[in-house]
Amino acid sequence: MDYEAVIGLEVHAELLTQSKVFCGCSAKFGAPPNQNTCPVCLAMPGALPVLNRLAVEFGIRAGLATRCTVANYSRWARKNYFYPDLPKGYQITQYELPLCLGGSIDITTAAGPKTVRLTRIHMEEDTGKNIHDAHSDASLVDFNRCGVPLLEIVSEPDIRSAEEAGAYLRKLRTILQYLEICDGNMEEGSFRCDANVSVRQRGATALGTKVEIKNMNSFRNVERAIEFELKRQAQALDEGGRLVQETRLWDPDREVTRPMRSKESAHDYRYFPEPDLLPLLVSDEWIGEVRRTLPELPDARRTRFVREYGLPEYDADVLTMRKDVADFYEDAVRHH
Ligand code: ADP
Ligand code: MG
Ligand code: ZN
Repeated sequence: MDYEAVIGLEVHAELLTQSKVFCGCSAKFGAPPNQNTCPVCLAMPGALPVLNRLAVEFGIRAGLATRCTVANYSRWARKNYFYPDLPKGYQITQYELPLCLGGSIDITTAAGPKTVRLTRIHMEEDTGKNIHDAHSDASLVDFNRCGVPLLEIVSEPDIRSAEEAGAYLRKLRTILQYLEICDGNMEEGSFRCDANVSVRQRGATALGTKVEIKNMNSFRNVERAIEFELKRQAQALDEGGRLVQETRLWDPDREVTRPMRSKESAHDYRYFPEPDLLPLLVSDEWIGEVRRTLPELPDARRTRFVREYGLPEYDADVLTMRKDVADFYEDAVRHH
């Protein structure tokens, strides 16, 4: 059978604020275990969250740079689940009313240009980290990452191949790096991606059953995991099997995805409005101020490099992929 790939990506980007999103602890990566903690991010009874204004500003910046509508009114929600890296027993996130809605990102692949729509960008707090390989008879938990501000950037299921997924991720990372709100380090986990993958018969309009893939810590792994998953699903359908909605883990050593858990749905998390935080009000004045401070974005800069310096498209693309490289190039031009 001839299948079409349908892919939607959920990206978690850690924000480069100095302090965490609901307390004053350092948000810096790499401190000794459990050093960047306090009663708030350790969930001591009675400790209350206080919102980091700069984290919200970074969220607005991301929304404006990706053509979202920034909401004047959004709200915090509790997503309830138990896991040792989540001391409160819930994650503070946004659910029904996120900070940013809509938006889109332009990508280019061998097939040409394409626009991938965004569903939303919402804010949330990161969890701690379980460490399983340090001791043979125990697991350890490091709460340093608990409460580091995150953006979750959710795409519509507009992506049609592993190559497009890679192009989308690279473009998104470049934009966040230009905005200086995320360092985009996939190996250290400051830019993480879950891939939702399904297939359908070419020409069909209904969506197929999707699988969510986790545990990919490089662009290459995202592309390979998607390739593998598309083949696995097509083969299962060809053999007359049925797909189940589930979460699967990418195993980079064996280069396969394997089942992790059957997919939970929203009601399992018993989302409800966070009673410890006020609704998030963002005025048009604030949005306007942030808009005025946006840097020249990668696409605009690439076009300008072609026009101003007479560079071939490809060269301009390579030079503007990273902001520091583009800055260096322009400095060199100025001096010589
Ligand atoms: P969930 O509640 O399971 O997280 P959502 O509807 O919020 O699911 O979608 C999460 C992501 O999955 C989005 O990026 C969306 O575009 C993508 N997605 C939704 N349905 C499909 C599908 N059938 N195939 C591929 N991706 C999908
Ligand atoms: Mg999801
Ligand atoms: Zn803290």
